[in-house]
Amino acid sequence: MFVGHYGVSFAARRCDASVPLWALFVAVQLLDFIWAPLVLLGIEKVRIVPGFTATNPLDLYYMPYTHSLVAACLWSAGAFAVYRLARRRDGAAAALVVAGAVLSHWVLDFVVHRPDLPLFDDSVKVGLGLWNWPGPALALEAALLLGGMAISFRAGPARRAATTTFCLAMLAIQVVVFFGPPPASGKAAAAYVAFAAIIGLIEGRRSITVKTA
Ligand SMILES: [Zn+2]
Repeated sequence: MFVGHYGVSFAARRCDASVPLWALFVAVQLLDFIWAPLVLLGIEKVRIVPGFTATNPLDLYYMPYTHSLVAACLWSAGAFAVYRLARRRDGAAAALVVAGAVLSHWVLDFVVHRPDLPLFDDSVKVGLGLWNWPGPALALEAALLLGGMAISFRAGPARRAATTTFCLAMLAIQVVVFFGPPPASGKAAAAYVAFAAIIGLIEGRRSITVKTA
């Protein structure tokens, strides 16, 4: 899954308004953020097999440190601890929201991945394989992203035009990724960094707007 993860970021923001959206953007993609350098270092492994799934040719055959369920739970616990230390004033509930956002990545990946997600280490691999149905897979990504965005809008003043434009742009990139050549892991991580930075800018301007209003 790609942009659908960000629907969780928006919805989580609704659960606890003290957590910045950029932090939730990082949280929902944390497992992929760590996956990209591990692939570049050869610690986790992926190979390109044309036609491997209907939407992408990624054979993600070894990723126990980022995408096993046990690893996802550990990264989620780590995110809780780091957020708690970094922003103690937000309270434990906020750190719990961040931890939940991290874990949501595995759950949503489980829906779209073919059975390449291990439950622990490199064993007992699961995945519902929605990637083999491009239409429903794309519809799910769009529904999650736009649904989450709509939920966040209900919280009150928001830079709706900027946020909506940004989400539609992310969706357009998703369509290109679905029907074009697959992005390298490094490029995907760079896109995630850019997305978090852009939503930080949008939200930063929004909070200034709210304060001066
Ligand atoms: Zn992933």
